[in-house]
Amino acid sequence: MHYFIEVILPIALPQTFTYKVSEAEFDFIQIGVRVAVPFGKSKFYTALVAEKHHNPPTLYEAKEIHQIIDEKPVVNDNQLEHWKWIATYYMCAIGEVYRTALPSALLLESETIISAKKEILITDDFSDDEYLLVEALQQQTSLKISEITSILNKKKVFPIIQQLLEKNIISLQEEMVEGYKPKLIRYIRLFPEFNFPDKLEELLTLLKRSEKQKELLLSYFQLNASQRKPISVKELTEYSNVSSAVVKSLIDKEIFEEYYIQHDRVSFDEVEENQLNLNKAQSEALSAIQTVFEEKEVCLLHGVTASGKTEVYIKLIESFLAQEKQILYLLPEIALTTQLVARLTKHFGNKVAVFHSKYSNNERVEVWKQVLNNSEKAQIVIGARSALFLPFQDLGLIVVDEEHEATFKQVDPAPRYHARDAAIVLANFHKAKVVLGSATPSIETYFNAQTGKYGWVELHERFGNAVLPEIKLVDLKDSYFRKKMTGHFSQTLIDEMTEALSNGEQIILFQNRRGYAPVIECMTCGHIPQCPQCDVSLTYHKFKNQLRCHYCGHSIAKPTHCHACSSIDLTSKGFGTEQIELELTELFPTRNIKRMDQDTTRGKYAFEKLIDSFKNREIDILVGTQMLAKGLDFDNVSLVGILNADSMLYFPDFRAFERSYQMMTQVSGRAGRSDKKGKVIIQTYNTAHNTIQQVTNNDYAGMYKEQLYERKIYNYPPYFKLIKLTLKHKDYEKLKEGSIWLYQVLKQQFDIPVLGPEEPPVSKIRNEYIRTILIKIPQEKPLGSTKKTIQKILNSFDAISQYRSIKIVINVDVN
Ligand code: ADP
Ligand code: ZN
Ligand code: ZN
Repeated sequence: MHYFIEVILPIALPQTFTYKVSEAEFDFIQIGVRVAVPFGKSKFYTALVAEKHHNPPTLYEAKEIHQIIDEKPVVNDNQLEHWKWIATYYMCAIGEVYRTALPSALLLESETIISAKKEILITDDFSDDEYLLVEALQQQTSLKISEITSILNKKKVFPIIQQLLEKNIISLQEEMVEGYKPKLIRYIRLFPEFNFPDKLEELLTLLKRSEKQKELLLSYFQLNASQRKPISVKELTEYSNVSSAVVKSLIDKEIFEEYYIQHDRVSFDEVEENQLNLNKAQSEALSAIQTVFEEKEVCLLHGVTASGKTEVYIKLIESFLAQEKQILYLLPEIALTTQLVARLTKHFGNKVAVFHSKYSNNERVEVWKQVLNNSEKAQIVIGARSALFLPFQDLGLIVVDEEHEATFKQVDPAPRYHARDAAIVLANFHKAKVVLGSATPSIETYFNAQTGKYGWVELHERFGNAVLPEIKLVDLKDSYFRKKMTGHFSQTLIDEMTEALSNGEQIILFQNRRGYAPVIECMTCGHIPQCPQCDVSLTYHKFKNQLRCHYCGHSIAKPTHCHACSSIDLTSKGFGTEQIELELTELFPTRNIKRMDQDTTRGKYAFEKLIDSFKNREIDILVGTQMLAKGLDFDNVSLVGILNADSMLYFPDFRAFERSYQMMTQVSGRAGRSDKKGKVIIQTYNTAHNTIQQVTNNDYAGMYKEQLYERKIYNYPPYFKLIKLTLKHKDYEKLKEGSIWLYQVLKQQFDIPVLGPEEPPVSKIRNEYIRTILIKIPQEKPLGSTKKTIQKILNSFDAISQYRSIKIVINVDVN
């Protein structure tokens, strides 16, 4: 009898691979464990066991595995099923899903680079191998796993590396240095066995020798009796007037245990209100959602900005916690987690874990294991889209907050999945429920709610006394004509800003473009400097005095004369955040002005730092791109200005109006969150534009109706599914020929709309030319078999030798 396992490799090949194992190994190995396997000439990978069987492969001789890495599965059946669904639906390799799903520390391969962390203290529990390796790392700053293999003179090095990773001695190359740690507050509580009032006596006798310790303990019991909330070390030492050294001795005696809660750096001084009471609208929404869940899996919570959706989620989470289920809370943006973690830990303490790609490898592996073991510490997981891949054992609820956000869709690399949609499928495997929340739902989701596929619950009013902001339009054409503009600011906006500032209120300004001015243009010949590698104009960045490509990063110093005609008469055209910031410093020289865009938020916690100081009211005016539009909660912003609404509206995309509506409504939603009515000023050349009017009147339904009509007429979602094929090659002619061939075959094969091959607006990036083909699949067509046919055609394309070098990216549900 032969014994084989079928494994998934973390590479972009469609199939699984067969390896040979011994009978003993076969018995030991469970589906979902990792094994190290050789692949190709000299590589080895961390593979995942997907199947066990007795059938030798027909096309190749099965190799033996290097070794088994796990005793118990690190991936479960639901995950494997979910990965298969993602691979099939989004037309990618299951290995690509595997590669995205696992934290890279669990995916060591021969190319992984390892380096030592700071000073290493060698302790007794080091094995010989560990010792050897650490020594080598002290001589050489980094090592490849293949080098480690030869240093240790053995093949089986993964477990040793894993141990050292767990000991926090080494790190993987890609990790970033953490500059800014979220603020952690140290709390104290009694060890569980002492946590009863009648234990006090016993403890006091235990401590009879130390007056200070007794005093501290008494204070703790007093505090604990008078309030139902966690007690911080700071609070306890202040209350008892006893130094923190005494606290430490009680921790050493294992009477107290310490724990940490990550705090919002701002809300820290506020009184913590542990008891959450929903208002009438919220409680009704909550019970409506619960009713929906009796017969449907998914419910849309459509609530205006600041209606208190988060509080409704919290109550929902409570009910699932009571059933000891796991809960996943998905956010569109890593940067939003800090605020949310602070809000959720208030209610759920250390049952909350955070998982996202900016976390270090160790932190990610830790959360992975907690979720795998169904540990209480990770009963609620907050994360960006990759948290979807955690090894949930018993998922009860998934919250997808700000479900309309485009960042839920992964663009590169494959799998190009939509986290909202993949979450709904995952929930299905677990028989879990999903709540999708938004003030401005995506057209698709709203459609599903309208047609009864999802439940639909609304919150019409803001929480408390807050009302929706008043929106005023400023006609730019008129303002320029009457010379009522200072730079890009209308007099109306300046007046409103002046008033808000004099009231001590803060302002958010929205400009959907970064940089100073998009382009530099020659006044003599009209030449605009282009990126030599991409088909775009270079963007002017004043601070660095550079022209930069936003696609490939290419930059040149700002030219002093035109490259085409040598004229020195150059001018800037269009405007970005940087220029707005500069104009502001002239308009309001005494005010603190900051800019938030991709350029100012590159560092790991740069975004959080900006948000923190804005919340702390250290910044008067914040200028930013769409980053500002995402679910942030500020209580002192009374004015929001949108400098130019038109650039969004005319973006060449079928979602342009939907997105513009969402963006403007969301940014507006940052205004007037407390009891003062906020104001929004929208500057535009098109005051009568339907979308602008819909934003002004808070008319989501009108926007939906209009857009849905357009989608139907022009064959777009939700009526048609879109698959975009992007072809790339350095040779223009070859690409053109190949894309026409592909287009024609697709066209012949299908009686559905196939469009293209088109040169996209940016038709060359990094010296590669680009063509796109768009396939539109109507609702009534079988999706699965259509995709299979497309895949077949792509395979035959790949079999044509002169086209093989053309890269094809498949994007299902492109958005
Ligand atoms: P949304 O997510 O709908 O935009 P939030 O959940 O951020 O709204 O709520 C807006 C504000 O109102 C927040 O500051 C929140 O703390 C407060 N809030 C909402 N509901 C309650 C409640 N039931 N009790 C106390 N505060 C609430
Ligand atoms: Zn010129
Ligand atoms: Zn470029």
